[in-house]
Amino acid sequence: MEEIEALLALPFNDLLFRAQQIHRTYFDPNAVQISTLLSIKTGACPEDCKYCPQSGHYNTGLGKEKLLEIEKVVTQARAARDAGASRFCMGAAWRSPRQKDLDVVLEMVRQVKDLGLETCMTLGMLDGDQASQLADAGLDYYNHNLDTSPEYYGEIITTRTYGDRLETLDHVRQAGMSICSGGIVGLGESSRDRAALLQQLARLEPQPESVPINMLVKVAGTPLEDVDDLDPIDFIRTIAVARILMPKSHVRLSAGREQMSESTQSLAFLAGANSIFHGETLLTTSNPQLARDRALFDKLGLHPEQREVCRSDNEQQQHLEAAIQRRTNESLFYDATA
Ligand code: SF4
Repeated sequence: MEEIEALLALPFNDLLFRAQQIHRTYFDPNAVQISTLLSIKTGACPEDCKYCPQSGHYNTGLGKEKLLEIEKVVTQARAARDAGASRFCMGAAWRSPRQKDLDVVLEMVRQVKDLGLETCMTLGMLDGDQASQLADAGLDYYNHNLDTSPEYYGEIITTRTYGDRLETLDHVRQAGMSICSGGIVGLGESSRDRAALLQQLARLEPQPESVPINMLVKVAGTPLEDVDDLDPIDFIRTIAVARILMPKSHVRLSAGREQMSESTQSLAFLAGANSIFHGETLLTTSNPQLARDRALFDKLGLHPEQREVCRSDNEQQQHLEAAIQRRTNESLFYDATA
């Protein structure tokens, strides 16, 4: 903890320099992975996370939705892929999934994966059997955030424990899936809490492949609607220290990005953030946020990270044959034996 707190307190230029050095050792410094998020079941969540407009404990005026139909999810996933996303994340506001819902979700995973996208889900707490079912369906990532430090956690959520969260992450790992786990800053926590959150994440063995660092979006009706703003420089420090502690993880600039200035986002990339979310309303090219992101990428010389598609031997063979068939039809092959 002392070492992490010392990193957070470094002179800003020194901290960014160290983060950038580490970032360049493990990643293309100008590539940013793009994920798209779709809420497949919104609102009426029984949990009481004080920052969340989807909690049924607070009146935020958010509409409640049933689980989205598979076809609609696949349509959105296809649009996300065509807009440049390499990973499609699906989130449901549940404490944990019921088996009848999980059956539908498993089919979603299969069909989204068939589009050539990486898949990620966040469905609440999982037991070992649920994690195995998701892994068998081909789910690549499971998102389950630790949110904040163990010490501050009780101020934010009372309906599940820190231990519950670590247990779910353990089930995800045991099932062989990759982990997406991070937290939220700007909840009124101290700098020591931010250090303790990063410590918890960095001590996961192995470390999470994706680490979303969210900036609280204050929503009217939630208990945190009037909490003091976190200074953007402290947000950047958190990103930089996440990069240093978890050198091989994708550090994701997540919620709160829409409210951030270009300068803050640019500093976050410099500090080692190398992944962003595009929300579900951002799927058309005419969308202003998507256009703004493209303009910022151009300005900074950034480019979307290309995904390495992992295919089984069988799938590879099928793709190869299909590619040869296409080329044959294009009459690009000639008979070299004649
Ligand atoms: S469990 Fe998720 S959806 Fe439910 S209140 Fe907490 S953050 Fe919101």
